[in-house]
Amino acid sequence: MNWLSLAQNLPLGRTSRCDCPECGEGTNTNAAILNHSTRGYSLFCHACGYNPFQDKGIQTLDELKRLKELNEQAERYTDKNVRVPSDVTENIPLAGRLWLYNAGISPTIWKEYNVGYSESLQRVILPVYGSDGELIWYQGRAVHEGQRPKYLNPTVPKDGRMFVSCNRTPISGTTTVIVCEDILSAIRVGKAASCLNSDGNKYIGVSLLGTKLTTESINTLSNAKRIISWFDADAAGSKARAELYKAVGIFTTVNSIRSERDPKRYSDQDIRRYIEGALNGGSI
Ligand SMILES: [Zn+2]
Repeated sequence: MNWLSLAQNLPLGRTSRCDCPECGEGTNTNAAILNHSTRGYSLFCHACGYNPFQDKGIQTLDELKRLKELNEQAERYTDKNVRVPSDVTENIPLAGRLWLYNAGISPTIWKEYNVGYSESLQRVILPVYGSDGELIWYQGRAVHEGQRPKYLNPTVPKDGRMFVSCNRTPISGTTTVIVCEDILSAIRVGKAASCLNSDGNKYIGVSLLGTKLTTESINTLSNAKRIISWFDADAAGSKARAELYKAVGIFTTVNSIRSERDPKRYSDQDIRRYIEGALNGGSI
């Protein structure tokens, strides 16, 4: 039986496992997760990342009403105290887990970074900690079809707050900082580059939590031995790359990586290859 028929036989809201039709047919490895959600049927393979989705078509009126309410609630969202929603748990439902898996974030990694889920917001919560381990920011990421906006943040000025993949490591003359837009990319880049540490130089991934630089973030980043910018391949990313170069280029060495996809969409090996390429001569 093919994966779609298996998924169609699942009760709504249930998951099960099967061999991946792309990389494991008949192996009994059960590397793939099947899911039957309100939106459709999907499969996700842990081994090769194969992730087909079959839309069920029109959503029911109830579902549309619920989505509308959820999005209206998100528009009214306020948090002036930078506190994660009180209902955040470690139990991340499939939609959230798939979003994390698709970015190469395994359960071990999301637990390490205290990634959680808020049932009331229906979002994955990504906390951001300062150098003393205190919560300084968070993002609530939409993971459901049609859910808006993509991110919910505390409703206070962000100032120079950044996500640092290794938040206890101060940015100094022995750190090479790879500056990304989003948190998951910063985590992936920090992990992939950690084995490059052998030259006595620490590599850390930083997310600007967007593309905007502030005086504070420029001051912090200026302390690095070297900066490698790795922004998304769009107009906002190009602007951020130019601004970062202009702001810190007189204090420190700046290289840039240009890639078709976000850093989090690459394998660890490819991430290292991009970084080494940048170290050996500018932009790729
Ligand atoms: Zn597979």
